[in-house]
Parts: sequence; structure tokens; C-alpha cells
Amino acid sequence: KSYTVAIVGRPNVGKSTFFNRLLENRKAIVDDVSGVTRDRQYGIADWNGKVFNLIDTGGFVSGSSDVFETEIRKQVRIAIDEANAVIFMVDVATGITDLDESVADLLRRSTKPVYVVVNKVDNGTRELEATEFYSLGFEHNFFISSISGSGTGELLDAITADI
Ligand code: GDP
Ligand code: MG
Repeated sequence: KSYTVAIVGRPNVGKSTFFNRLLENRKAIVDDVSGVTRDRQYGIADWNGKVFNLIDTGGFVSGSSDVFETEIRKQVRIAIDEANAVIFMVDVATGITDLDESVADLLRRSTKPVYVVVNKVDNGTRELEATEFYSLGFEHNFFISSISGSGTGELLDAITADI
């Protein structure tokens, strides 16, 4: 039985950086279906022998900020429906935004596990700042740097514990 994890969040938080890093380092097969669905990328991740499907969302281009938010919320709904767990990525460099709150509102209604992943936690100062995201009220919170890879091991251990 396959297990699917979807990465959601507003643009520029680092979703694709995390996605690409994970698939590259684990030599996973990337199934490129970008011709079919421009707004999602699919890959197969392997963490210590635990294999799962990983979906990166939000590769779309959009016009007004209204369309933007609608599109992001659509991706979040699909993720909640189709995935077994959701990575909700946020960005410590910008802090909590209205769009983050909007995504959080949808995810709070989900019965599936939600992992709040605070990205760009590149140093100790940012680690202190990252605690701001506890106020979103989710149970599982992780601080990572997708560029250095720090914190990603703990996150993947937690996610794959359910597989
Ligand atoms: P997405 O829109 O959520 O997919 O975000 P991207 O993966 O395209 O990343 C947006 C920007 O954030 C890029 O310039 C990345 O290099 C940068 N970025 C991603 N992860 C990190 C990180 O851990 N630390 C820092 N400092 N920058 C990051
Ligand atoms: Mg992206």
C-alpha cells in the first residue's frame, strides 16, 4: 500500500528546494508529469528503506493575488483529500503571513497528520525566531534548512514512523 505526502504552503517558502533535495540525495525516481499538471510535481522518496510518494505543489503562475490564494487553497484541499500526511511549509525569514493563516485554517480541519515545517532556519537566531510558528497551534513542528539539510532527518524520521 502506498503512502503519499504532499508539501503545501505559499510561494517562496522553499517547497521545491526541499522536494528536489530529498529526491536527489536519496536517488529517487522522479516521475515528471509536468506536461499534464503544471502545478504539481511528483516524486518517489526513500528514507532508510521507507518509500513514499512526495508531491510538490504550487508550481503555477498566476495573476492577481486573489487568484493566487484561491489556487493555493485548492492545492491544500487536494492535498488533504489525496495525501496521507501534509507538510505545511512556512518561512522563518518572513514570519507568519495572511496566506499562511489562510492555509492553516484549512489544515486545522484535516484529520490527517499535518507537519508544520519552518524552513530557512539556517542559524541559531532563526531558530529562536522560528518558535513564532507554534502560535499556529499545530502539534507537530519542525525547524529545517532545506539548503544545509539541517533538521530534515528528524522530520523524515517522524513522517516515516507512520509508514
Ligand atoms: P517554493 O516557491 O516554495 O517552491 O520555494 P523555492 O524552493 O522555489 O525557494 C524559494 C527561495 O528560497 C529560493 O531562492 C531558495 O533558494 C530559497 N530557500 C529555500 N530553502 C532555503 C533555506 O533553507 N534557507 C535559505 N536561506 N533559503 C532557502
Ligand atoms: Mg516551488
